[in-house]
Amino acid sequence: MKIESQEISLPILKEKDIRLFVKRLDKIHPFISGNKWFKLKYNLIEAKKLGYKTLLTFGGAYSNHIVATAFAAKENCLKSIGVIRGEEHLPLNPTLRFARENGMELHYVSRADYRLKATPIFLDKLKAQFGDFYLLPEGGANELAIKGAEEILDASDTQDYICCPVGTGGTISGIINTANSMQQVIGFPAIKGSGDLLKDVICWTNDKYFKFINSYSYGGYAKVSKELIQFINEFYKTQDIPLDTVYTGKMMMGVLDLVAKDYFPKGSAVLFIHTGGLQGNKGMSERLGVKLPS
Ligand SMILES: *Cc1c(COP(=O)(O)O)cnc(C)c1O
Repeated sequence: MKIESQEISLPILKEKDIRLFVKRLDKIHPFISGNKWFKLKYNLIEAKKLGYKTLLTFGGAYSNHIVATAFAAKENCLKSIGVIRGEEHLPLNPTLRFARENGMELHYVSRADYRLKATPIFLDKLKAQFGDFYLLPEGGANELAIKGAEEILDASDTQDYICCPVGTGGTISGIINTANSMQQVIGFPAIKGSGDLLKDVICWTNDKYFKFINSYSYGGYAKVSKELIQFINEFYKTQDIPLDTVYTGKMMMGVLDLVAKDYFPKGSAVLFIHTGGLQGNKGMSERLGVKLPS
């Protein structure tokens, strides 16, 4: 799939002689948005090949992965079960409402149990309750997801730097594997990187050069400042590109801050991977009573 990149025009970019391009993964599907489409692609093929009738996966109440899995399962005539962290809150927020409306069965577990979700005992309990299922890990990151993420970049993506938001590290692993040896891949973790995250990415990738910049998580996943909301709305107005509050909004603030601080040498070209996540803006708007693009 060929995905277009859109060049950004801002005074700071002109002043610093940097070209910034946004690869619009957010535009590839209305519901299986952004990187999740790539991460699901080969898992769906595998699940069907192995004859599974049900997908089961995990996520928080605002998870883009839950929405993408619910819709992808429906499109592929599979049942889906979402194991959701925390208690049920009614009415459902827009994320979980969408998942339910698209046939996902929601199963709530306590935060303590959620931590045990990858253990054999916990999975056996789920199997006793729901029957056999194809398991997608939290955030959908596994070998097949990375194989899918390796298809995000194509030969036309020749920029010197590639910036990618990081949750589980699955998406950036695919990008690292496809980037050429002249390109530097920079990850922006949505929460301050743990040792495990780095270990996972090293394990999923060949030995290309990449780095993480941890200074732009702005307090982590659900933390949203007035400044961030204002930035996202202003960016939408001037560039016509909607950003989300968890990953791409914070990363764009970070990338432009790096430009302002002369992180990128003059004359460089930077590719910003827009991983989607816009479904989350609805829930965030509702929760905070603010306006956000979607
Ligand atoms: C899930 C998600 C990510 C994180 O992807 P990982 O492969 O888990 O690192 C980044 N951006 C958006 C918009 C996402 O929904």
